[in-house]
Amino acid sequence: MNEHTIEDIVIVGGGTAGWMAAAAMSRFMNNGYTRVTLVESEEIGTVGVGEATIPPIITFNRMLGINEDEFIRATNGTYKLGIEFVNWGGLGERYFHPFGAHGEDLSGVHFHQLYLRERKRRVLQDISAWSMSAVAASMGKFARPPGDARFPVKDLYYAFQFDASLYAKYLRAYAERGGVRRIEGKITDAALRAEDGHVESVTLASGQVIQGDLFIDCSGFRGLLIEEKLGTGYEDWTRWLPADRAIAVPSKLAGPPEPITRATAHASCWQWRIPLQHRMGNGVVYSSQFLGDEEAERILLSNLEAEPIADPKRLRFTTGRRKASWNKNVIAMGLSSGFVEPLESTSIHMVQAAIAKLIALFPDKRFNPVERDTFNEQMRDLYEDVRDFIVLHYKATARTDSDFWNHCRTMEIPDGLQRKIDLFRAKGRVFREGYDLFGITSWVAVMLGQHIVPEDYEPAVDALDERRVAEALEEMRLAYLQTAEALPSHADFLAATGAAPAPVPTFSFDDDLPGFMPASGQPA
Ligand SMILES: Cc1cc2nc3c(=O)[nH]c(=O)nc-3n(C[C@H](O)[C@H](O)[C@H](O)COP(=O)(O)OP(=O)(O)OC[C@H]3O[C@@H](n4cnc5c(N)ncnc54)[C@H](O)[C@@H]3O)c2cc1C
Repeated sequence: MNEHTIEDIVIVGGGTAGWMAAAAMSRFMNNGYTRVTLVESEEIGTVGVGEATIPPIITFNRMLGINEDEFIRATNGTYKLGIEFVNWGGLGERYFHPFGAHGEDLSGVHFHQLYLRERKRRVLQDISAWSMSAVAASMGKFARPPGDARFPVKDLYYAFQFDASLYAKYLRAYAERGGVRRIEGKITDAALRAEDGHVESVTLASGQVIQGDLFIDCSGFRGLLIEEKLGTGYEDWTRWLPADRAIAVPSKLAGPPEPITRATAHASCWQWRIPLQHRMGNGVVYSSQFLGDEEAERILLSNLEAEPIADPKRLRFTTGRRKASWNKNVIAMGLSSGFVEPLESTSIHMVQAAIAKLIALFPDKRFNPVERDTFNEQMRDLYEDVRDFIVLHYKATARTDSDFWNHCRTMEIPDGLQRKIDLFRAKGRVFREGYDLFGITSWVAVMLGQHIVPEDYEPAVDALDERRVAEALEEMRLAYLQTAEALPSHADFLAATGAAPAPVPTFSFDDDLPGFMPASGQPA
């Protein structure tokens, strides 16, 4: 510690982003001299949705030392092996975007290139037959692979689906055990330092003043500090992603929870379906240019599999990102830093990424601009990769059944995405660049799933013996199939690890559900 060391971190907001940040700070800034304070307002509340995740969340949990079984029990969570897309490429079609890789590369050649050549020679199954996660998902099976698993079990990648409010509560308990101080109250003002415009303190309605050296703005869409106080600016991406509304509603389960999220495209909106242990999370995402709120709600309610257990909740958003997530001594995380619709369950990951980058680039009171600029560049890359990947789902469609799909099919797209599509269409090439989140499997799954079919494959594939490739493909396919058959059902795995799927009769987004506290003190 020296005179420049950050001593007071103030987190503004106690939604998913605020408590994730608080939990991480309690673990990584537990140095004896950094104090962490979180301010939240029950009166304002949280968004309360955000229930499906992607595999890197496992790293976040491990970073915090969280025991996975305990975590799943505490959040009424389920496992997730990928996302099933229904009606996206065309009406009546479905495909699966799995976690983990498609197949094994051979002699340095990507699996999907082998698959593309083989598909020119004979009729082949969908590429998802070469994904451990996809094959297990198609059978409703799941088991957690051991750390030293080998092919094909090692290819079973997974994430979680959980109750957002229970997740925030779980992290709150973790953070408070780690020394984070929580203050309840509504922030009504923030003071800026005269010499450099840094935020000095926030003031609550009660008059209490909370001072800090570094502020993490997790105040949601409004961006209390990053925007309302510092006027950082917002890049609006509505021209590529026109959706600006969502309606969420939980419902009863119609059967045992499956280990997948489903995204079903309707004529002018799409609907999510996220199975948890005790209920189904549902919602529609739509553009107010193409669909009214009443009609969207009617579509949502008429497409539920079982009866709703709360009133629908309407949400508005503008897709885009804050021009800089880190401005002065304020770092925005979560909805205050940007939002891309939940089609690929990426928002919680963006919080995790911001936390990891902040820890890696943690400043001192001098706030070296190179740390801020590096953080901002990496976050921009990440946001743009997510944006382009989501735009792909809308653009690559053959649907002509509504003004909405005609708009999406014919709209301009970002240059980088157009280049990705052109590269894939020519010879199936996909490259991961910069701080991209989505890898080859993801791009291949969605492009093939939505009919962007390469005209050719890489010439390097022709250096490999045709018979050897055909045999290897068949061996892999059988290995995934037989392994999946031997796995327990997802429901049995949940039961065996102590999660008790018990239907909850009523639910509201603000319900204070009991039973989330971990049994042990520090996580295992
Ligand atoms: C429709 C929809 C579906 C989504 N689905 C997914 C998904 O499946 N997967 C995923 O990863 N993400 C999803 N997300 C995103 C996810 O919900 C958010 O990323 C996550 O909840 C983080 O929100 P937050 O904490 O930034 O904001 P919020 O939940 O809005 O929290 C803001 C906090 O700031 C506090 N606050 C605000 N103003 C003040 C003030 N003046 N004084 C004191 N406190 C204040 C509030 O009380 C609250 O505690 C979805 C989002 C939407 C809109």
